[in-house]
Amino acid sequence: MLDKPVSELKGVGAARQTQLNRLGIRTVEDLISHLPRAYHDLTKLQSMEQMHTGEDWFGALTVLSEAKVGYPRRNFSVLRVHAGDENGRVQLVFYNQPYLKQALTVGRRLYVFGRPEHIGGEVRLASPMIEWPENSEGLRMLPIYRTTTGLNQNTLRKLIKMAFEKFGGEIADVLPRSIREENGLFALRDAYELAHFPTDATVRDKAIETLSFTELLLLRLYLSELHNGRGKARPACLGKADKDAYINSLGFTLTGAQNRAIEDIERDMASDRPMSRLLQGDVGSGKTVVAFFALYNAIKNGRQAALMAPTELLAAQHAAGAERILGSLGAKITLLRSGMKAAEKREALRAIREQETDLVIGTHAVIQQGVEFNDLGAVVADEQHRFGVAQRARLMEKGEGAHAIFLSATPIPRTLSMIVYGDLDLSVIDELPPNRKPVQTNIVPPHKREQMLDYLEKTVQQGRQVFIVCPRIEEEEQTEVLTAEQAYDRLRQRPALRAGLLHGRMKAADKEAVMQAFLKNEIGVLISTTVIEVGVDVPNATVMVIENAERFGLAQLHQLRGRVGRGAEQSYCFLCTEDVQNIRLRALCATQNGFEIAQVDLEQRGPGALLGQEQHGRADVRLSSMLRDTRLLDQVLRVMDGLNAPENEAVRNMLIKTAEKRYADPLTDVVMN
Ligand code: ADP
Ligand code: MG
Repeated sequence: MLDKPVSELKGVGAARQTQLNRLGIRTVEDLISHLPRAYHDLTKLQSMEQMHTGEDWFGALTVLSEAKVGYPRRNFSVLRVHAGDENGRVQLVFYNQPYLKQALTVGRRLYVFGRPEHIGGEVRLASPMIEWPENSEGLRMLPIYRTTTGLNQNTLRKLIKMAFEKFGGEIADVLPRSIREENGLFALRDAYELAHFPTDATVRDKAIETLSFTELLLLRLYLSELHNGRGKARPACLGKADKDAYINSLGFTLTGAQNRAIEDIERDMASDRPMSRLLQGDVGSGKTVVAFFALYNAIKNGRQAALMAPTELLAAQHAAGAERILGSLGAKITLLRSGMKAAEKREALRAIREQETDLVIGTHAVIQQGVEFNDLGAVVADEQHRFGVAQRARLMEKGEGAHAIFLSATPIPRTLSMIVYGDLDLSVIDELPPNRKPVQTNIVPPHKREQMLDYLEKTVQQGRQVFIVCPRIEEEEQTEVLTAEQAYDRLRQRPALRAGLLHGRMKAADKEAVMQAFLKNEIGVLISTTVIEVGVDVPNATVMVIENAERFGLAQLHQLRGRVGRGAEQSYCFLCTEDVQNIRLRALCATQNGFEIAQVDLEQRGPGALLGQEQHGRADVRLSSMLRDTRLLDQVLRVMDGLNAPENEAVRNMLIKTAEKRYADPLTDVVMN
């Protein structure tokens, strides 16, 4: 069986197993499903003549000089070596890999992949990917995998080969032959094998198409089953006076787009078919008050409501906001916190069960066992892309006939949204509240840092506030980038900044205390890892500083920047980096439009990067090729139609069983990045 642990494979001991687990690989099936993120075509090696700065290059080179290792800082080494072919030479630079010196002997041949730069009159490849020809014997295309510290490409490749040799025969087909043949798909076993070790690009594409098709069909069947199983909702309507009371409590006028979304919701909730609506809008577009309206509508109709947020911090902030708006209109609100004492929690659960409380807010705790509603009428999942399909399913099951809204700020291309959200109705908030000035965005190279700090001091002295975000990093990298703690220590030397620190390892209560202090402007500069990334609303903050900005994905940077520019004040975003030419950072400086940014991201990183978090790996690669090709999606939808015919019931039921097994497993969850 393919669900055997990877430790069944020869040579996989405890250490190797831990590394594989870090990649989300636990079983043999996981290993076989760990598809390459890229390929290098060994039949199309480039020569040095074809090397151009700023463009990816892949070719074979010979080592020309002895490798030299220097230590500019403690625990930080730089290895330099020259390599080339008959057409030219290039300097290869490797950080923190001093052991490569032994292997890079003069005259040795290697495959090299990287993006050359022109520095100091010389062409240089920094941190290139290298591979020894003897490791790729028999391969025509070199698969490149997502790996982790201690596990190199070659080892991973060997493990996957081994898994195929030993267990490949057990890969059973999911789709019946008729569907496969009609759609020109490979058998599943062949598809996997050829996706890992293709003979050429055409075969590889067909293999990935087979996997994409299978994955997408299962996913869509699963989602449609989910909706069929939702049962009937009770309609919920509001009179004009109640709706006006809600709108008047807000303290601002709704935008046209917000009004339209609210009308969509009113229409949905007036029906006995449970609402399943995606509310999509760029950061700062004001999704919250639209979602609150749905909660209010349910509560006014005598039902309960629930709001689920991806972090404790955001849940707490929503609770405060809900208290202000819905509390003033008479709603009783309960915040479920992870740090609740047993007695406190018991009491909260009782109040929910007996409907003494109207609105329950929390993280996914809200949909966990033990939380029983008396009469749940509406649910909202904020930042839906963080939760994924499996959790969406759980939410729908919990709220059987409840009206549901999913909020998402991730502007994603239409094809992708049709894959992941194709089962939902859509409202788009395509308009920002008035008087928002675009956030002025600048790249800050190291030599301008002091000047920036002076500016931050001035900002704080004027009563405004600042976010500083540092990348979350693994320990072994600590010499290269500034951690949040280090940044904090440095900024304390400027007491005028009134710096505060927030990071992921702090206790929930401590986080909340720091956040409260920031909200009250007792803290002027809040330094954090990306815990603030999602949804935090502090209108008085006008500056966002991002350290080592080159480390962040474009969509993430856009989200972070969206934390400022929420008041009428001019706001700024400073991208600190040594990499001043960075294309993604320049794109961010050039536009505020989330959809344009998503497009650049797609071109830069490929579709796989938008789908799925690193830890949730499995479904993403298989789905990502769909993006390039909407034809496949149409094909899948046609097959789904066919499956609804009575004579296909048995096949449909079998596929749904497979799908349910697959998506009940959170590891297979499909999450948006
Ligand atoms: P997001 O869509 O990113 O979740 P929020 O709902 O947090 O955005 O709204 C961002 C900010 O804009 C909040 O401070 C909110 O109170 C404010 N806001 C929302 N709608 C309007 C509006 N129509 N006019 C003015 N301010 C608004
Ligand atoms: Mg929000």
